[in-house]
Amino acid sequence: MKLVTILGSTGSIGRSALEVISKRRDRFKVVGLTAGSNITLFEEQIKIFEPEMAAVADEATALELRKRLNIKVLSGNEGIAEVASYNRSDFVLSAIVGFAGLLPTLSAVRAGKTVGLANKESLVVAGDIVMGDAAKYGSKIIPVDSEHSAIFQCIEGRGRNSIKRIVLTASGGPFFGSTRGELGKVTLEDALKHPNWDMGRKITIDSATLMNKGLEVIEAHHLFGFSQDDIDVLIHPQSIVHSMIEFKDRSYLAQLSVPDMKGPIAYALSYPERLEDPMPVLDLSRIEKLTFRKPDTECFPCLLYAYEAAKEGGTMPAVLNAANEVAVDAFLQKRIGFNDIPVIIKDTMNSHRKEVGTTRPHPGGLAEESNRAVREIDVVIEADRWAREKAKAILMEIGDKR
Ligand code: NAD
Ligand code: MG
Repeated sequence: MKLVTILGSTGSIGRSALEVISKRRDRFKVVGLTAGSNITLFEEQIKIFEPEMAAVADEATALELRKRLNIKVLSGNEGIAEVASYNRSDFVLSAIVGFAGLLPTLSAVRAGKTVGLANKESLVVAGDIVMGDAAKYGSKIIPVDSEHSAIFQCIEGRGRNSIKRIVLTASGGPFFGSTRGELGKVTLEDALKHPNWDMGRKITIDSATLMNKGLEVIEAHHLFGFSQDDIDVLIHPQSIVHSMIEFKDRSYLAQLSVPDMKGPIAYALSYPERLEDPMPVLDLSRIEKLTFRKPDTECFPCLLYAYEAAKEGGTMPAVLNAANEVAVDAFLQKRIGFNDIPVIIKDTMNSHRKEVGTTRPHPGGLAEESNRAVREIDVVIEADRWAREKAKAILMEIGDKR
């Protein structure tokens, strides 16, 4: 029996994971769950899966749940970290969205857990720390992001020397083929209509801007040790080929399935075995064509910004991520337009290049750190805080101009 903890169980990935587990209760037992603020669903999940401990983001919600349930309910960062490192669990699914997932992921890693990693942002902002600590504390990280699960499955047991590059596929999102002018008029409702995947709101917007693919380039760099120059992106609107590797003899290996996150979640949960039918059958005879095209980085510059951040290294990926979270949040609140998202990110990154180290010396040495691997988590937290503040100021300026 594998004892499982799910961080972010009320989200899209969390719910899919519980669906997989509910069909295989002979193999998996939930021992820990955490959530943000969806108290109704969380209570329901606790009643069905009977974890030994649970945690929520705020104390008021925890208090309410303690009254209703007979289990240990913790709260706040410390509470979530405690559930993440719970000594009885064998496997931790990291499925909180955004920067908020970083410290819980690190807690699980530092407790030496096997971590199914959906929270790509933790690798984007602190990949060197997360991967370094995984090696140090004997934690195995198994990717859950569909592209990285595909690469993980393709690379399995093969020498790094035989592989030339990684090719990540992207659906292109709802605005694939749109012009910049058309993008200026799209609404939040249009952006939330993803053609192939049913996901949380933040990642759905990231998919529409192609930032999701940019974050995934940085994620792949940390997971598989390829430089960003050896990680390419192709738009593949059918979302059947989830990613591929190219060998040095120019042969490719790809992983295919229907677009359903239950596949990669099940693989991470059962690795190295495979479960029977966690997702629907892929009937290739019904798929007329599989197409691939280069991404349009003029209309979707977020992908380029992520490559730039990857190249610059240091705290720049954390700045990219924080600016993106602020911009996407503002777009979700209908405070800015779709084309304002890349502007906020670009301006925040430019400000970081200009200002950090001159106007804002950091005790941890942000300036000195910014051009090499970030080793201290405090440096990442400070860069995130700085970038959020800067991005919010830029956001206000955009609002004033309207
Ligand atoms: P979601 O918004 O549907 O769910 C997020 C979960 O995190 C919820 O349980 C929420 O309560 C919790 N949460 C949010 N903020 C929190 C906070 N401050 N403290 C504690 N808990 C908090 O998101 P999702 O779509 O399930 O995505 C989760 C992660 O998985 C993201 O990093 C995303 O990039 C990645 N991912 C998702 C998909 C997908 O299909 N949804 C695919 C690949 C990767
Ligand atoms: Mg993905």
